[in-house]
Amino acid sequence: MDNKQLPFGKKEIEQIVRTYPTPFYIYDEKAILDNARRLYGVFSWASAYKNYFAVKVLPNPHIISLLKQAGMGVDCSSLAELVLAERCGMRGEGIMFTSNNTSLEEFTKAAELKAIINLDDISHIPMLESVLPVPEIISFRFNPGPFRKSVGNSIIGDPTEAKFGMTKEQLLEGYRIMRDKGVKRFGLHTMVVSNELRLEALAETAEAVLDLVVEISGKLNITFEFINLGGGIGIAYKPEEQAVDLEKWSAGIRSMYEAKIINNNLPPLKIFTESGRMVTGPYGYLVTRVVHEKHTYKDYVGVDACMANLMRPGMYGAYHHISILGKEAQPQTQVYDVVGSLCENNDKFCVGRRLPKIEIGDILVIHDAGAHGHSMGFNYNGKLRSAELLLCKDGSHKLIRRAETLEDYFSTLVF
Ligand SMILES: *Cc1c(COP(=O)(O)O)cnc(C)c1O
Repeated sequence: MDNKQLPFGKKEIEQIVRTYPTPFYIYDEKAILDNARRLYGVFSWASAYKNYFAVKVLPNPHIISLLKQAGMGVDCSSLAELVLAERCGMRGEGIMFTSNNTSLEEFTKAAELKAIINLDDISHIPMLESVLPVPEIISFRFNPGPFRKSVGNSIIGDPTEAKFGMTKEQLLEGYRIMRDKGVKRFGLHTMVVSNELRLEALAETAEAVLDLVVEISGKLNITFEFINLGGGIGIAYKPEEQAVDLEKWSAGIRSMYEAKIINNNLPPLKIFTESGRMVTGPYGYLVTRVVHEKHTYKDYVGVDACMANLMRPGMYGAYHHISILGKEAQPQTQVYDVVGSLCENNDKFCVGRRLPKIEIGDILVIHDAGAHGHSMGFNYNGKLRSAELLLCKDGSHKLIRRAETLEDYFSTLVF
């Protein structure tokens, strides 16, 4: 028995593949909107909660516009992401620019769009000065380093090994410089976990940031307007995993907020997040067809998608659940490696997975591909990026990105 649900069945997908051949991504509009509402709901206690959707997760204008309608801003970290946000009609404080190793060109664009700039390094202060002498509002990214109590996180890892953010001494220096220039509005950001399901690890981020707000406000006599808790909320990739209890997570932040901000008589703070994965991850699917079967020392099922379409399994050994359309109720009697066609042996969507008996022509759905899926795609071995579709609220579907063609692939070559 397959124990993960799908928002569509074999019939609907067979209808779609007549127009849009596999492989393709499809995103569930209704589920994305319901989830966005839920996220805003759990923060109804906070005065001006906003999630800045991390664009890199799913950089498609239809998705960004959908999330914008739900009240979200965007978190950009590159020139292309800023331009995408602009072309989706966003500007001003609806954009958070959280970059690292940033170019002057990127700061120039962020300044032009009047985005909130979140600096990753002390050396970015003089750099930014050349395009924006006195920012209206400024934020810095904190790296807690060895101060963090923590429980450790495998994707971002030990903060002292992470390239992101500034030390506490650098933060104090940074805010002091900005204060002395006449900046009046301040924010503070940190993000030290990724794909984290444990509430205690997520709570640490909030605690570290709130403690710093208290300390820096006191030392420098400045007022913070917001804290930005970054992204990093995990999703339940495996059927046996539990999604983060958003109500509990928010309630934990609320009690820390009351203890540290309200009880210290500090002015109210806006709570911002930059969640990406939990916003769209569970609501995107990679649909692919079985084109080959091979039986050597193991049993292989070859599909028409490959690691170039979804690199998480190959890169991190990440689990992505796989359903075989029409065989959801069949017993898992076989053990397969489901593989793509790259000349790389890590091009596998799963290794030794128990699945029902598969035949050539079956359609496989790879779950939880709505974040860091299509966007991490690449062209190795001349593989073309797939189309993206939206499963609309009314049950219809529409193309939101066409598949690449050979012409696209050759278009940058100089013959
Ligand atoms: C990637 C990233 C995010 C989003 O992280 P998720 O794990 O997808 O929630 C948010 N902020 C920054 C700075 C990031 O690099």
